[in-house]
Amino acid sequence: MSGGIRFDSVSVAYDGQVVLDSLDLTVRPGEVMALLGPSGSGKTTALRAVAGFVRPVGGRVFLGDRDVTDLPPHRRGIGMVVQQYALFPHLRVEDNVAFGLKARRTAKAEIRTRVAEALELTGMSAYARRYPRELSGGQQQRVAIARALAIRPGVLLLDEPLSALDAQLRSGMLTELARLHRELPDVSILHVTHDQVEALTLADRIAVMDKARLVACGTPRELYRAPADEFTASFVGNANLLPVTVADGGVVLAGTGLEVDTRDAAKGARATLCVRPHLVGLGDGPNPLTGTVTEVQWRGATHRLYVDVAGHRVIADLRELRTPPAHGDPVTLHFAPADAVLLAAGVGDD
Ligand code: ADP
Repeated sequence: MSGGIRFDSVSVAYDGQVVLDSLDLTVRPGEVMALLGPSGSGKTTALRAVAGFVRPVGGRVFLGDRDVTDLPPHRRGIGMVVQQYALFPHLRVEDNVAFGLKARRTAKAEIRTRVAEALELTGMSAYARRYPRELSGGQQQRVAIARALAIRPGVLLLDEPLSALDAQLRSGMLTELARLHRELPDVSILHVTHDQVEALTLADRIAVMDKARLVACGTPRELYRAPADEFTASFVGNANLLPVTVADGGVVLAGTGLEVDTRDAAKGARATLCVRPHLVGLGDGPNPLTGTVTEVQWRGATHRLYVDVAGHRVIADLRELRTPPAHGDPVTLHFAPADAVLLAAGVGDD
């Protein structure tokens, strides 16, 4: 079974409180979609609506052409991996992986084939006879993934699958998940995460959620290069967000005229200028901003400079800086006109 996932105006409420508000979203066949957003924004609820663990108060959920809104979870043909591996402690790895197949009354020979295949895919063939307690956290999560894949689902739901692992394991598992997706190109994956690196690394597209609503959806590159709003700009990557006024041929920040593409913004309108910290340079150049260094952080490959520019904090991530300025030094920063994006001013900005 394949065909992707479609949320058609799906709303979910608990005790009358709407926690998912009219979600319209399509995950294409074979696509990896990340649901990215802060805690409590409704990501897991959206996932559970696809799995069938919560019932929407409005809207429909489709898997391919099938309306599954009224189907129980086990009839949806979905694989799901959650944060806590949730393996059965009294079952060996192979029996954990076989669990969904046995529940479906799959023939014994077929179960053996599929279990072997799923363990092979996740690199766990050598551990088939072990019990969960004899495995590391990362290995347990691989078994959980193998179990989800054994039923050969058309849709795989991942709910923060890496968040219980330490940083190094997480990075290894990210690579593993990317490889798995290459080997299973027809499986649609919906991946809930609050970690932007996970979303940027794995997803074909990212759906950004905030306060029960979808606020943006696009490829990682689109959302990073040209975010449509301040929330997306600050949640997908780091961003300098500066309040400006639109003028002829550019914008004005604290009395300084800057050359940027103002699109169709009306002259005199207030807007927010978004410039990524790694696109800010040190020294003279286009769009100079003068200010005072308030903090210098050495981050290995880069120095991060915090600079006060007429009361606004500007962050610059600089490479190859042999003699970094010090706290209190006057500096000039600059950025290329093409590297800035003008956003509509955020609600409540002064
Ligand atoms: P996220 O995954 O983005 O962190 P969730 O979808 O888990 O967010 O939760 C969205 C909102 O719904 C939160 O305010 C949460 O407290 C609430 N919520 C989630 N599950 C339940 C539940 N079973 N009963 C009541 N409220 C819930």
